[in-house]
Amino acid sequence: MTSPVGATDRTSVRRFPEKAVKDRSEVNAILDAGLVAHVSCVVDGQPFVMPVGYARDGDRVLFHGSTASRLFKNLAAGQACCFTVTLLDGMVLARSAFESSMHYRCVIALGSCVVLEGDEKEAALIRITDHLLPGRTDEARKAAPKESKATLMLALNLDEVSCKVSEGDPDDVPSDLTDPIYSNIWAGYVPMKEVFGEPVADPMTTEKNIPTPDYIKKWKR
Ligand SMILES: Cc1cc2nc3c(=O)[nH]c(=O)nc-3n(C[C@H](O)[C@H](O)[C@H](O)COP(=O)(O)OP(=O)(O)OC[C@H]3O[C@@H](n4cnc5c(N)ncnc54)[C@H](O)[C@@H]3O)c2cc1C
Repeated sequence: MTSPVGATDRTSVRRFPEKAVKDRSEVNAILDAGLVAHVSCVVDGQPFVMPVGYARDGDRVLFHGSTASRLFKNLAAGQACCFTVTLLDGMVLARSAFESSMHYRCVIALGSCVVLEGDEKEAALIRITDHLLPGRTDEARKAAPKESKATLMLALNLDEVSCKVSEGDPDDVPSDLTDPIYSNIWAGYVPMKEVFGEPVADPMTTEKNIPTPDYIKKWKR
């Protein structure tokens, strides 16, 4: 059953609760802006956290990997997992190193994955490609049956989710704001953005003089 954002005991933000976001549309916007998630699993009592590409598909997230991957094998078996997407938006410079921090938007989803097969798996692969490489699906070769068989496609429902967003000015301790030395140092924040660079053609593309497709030229972050 889908719970409101941050509403369960496990997802209620306790540390700096004023940074908690309860709006599902903001959660979706963060998931749609991200490309990489960090997914955890525990093997023999040892937690591992692995980065994966992903896409949101309505009220679930999709990600795929090799059937040989330890992470994917464990998650396919239904192990509990934690799925985290973090967007880093800036560095916050307070007057003390202690109060310095970061601007971020972060979503955490808890639950167990299900394995997608058949048409659902094919549709999920297209959804992920459309999110990570918009425009590429029409042009790229489709997965061969052998490649598809070697791929585990997982879906995690966004049933139990939390969201925390940090923004704004540094939060200095009051004594630093009146201190004759520390009140005179620069404080504020430096925004950060993820950007695509100029596309670089591989040697065969260059040799054959294949122009960069418009859909790639349009990629912006
Ligand atoms: C880029 C980045 C850098 C950070 N750097 C630091 C750091 O250096 N030191 C530090 O102490 N904290 C840092 N944080 C915040 C950190 O993620 C935790 O929120 C914080 O440490 C409190 O953890 P807790 O387990 O006590 O939180 P609690 O509030 O007890 O967590 C309860 C529940 O709230 C939710 N929750 C907690 N944190 C987040 C989150 N970030 N995003 C979404 N849901 C969340 C989860 O569902 C969690 O189970 C950083 C966060 C980000 C995104």
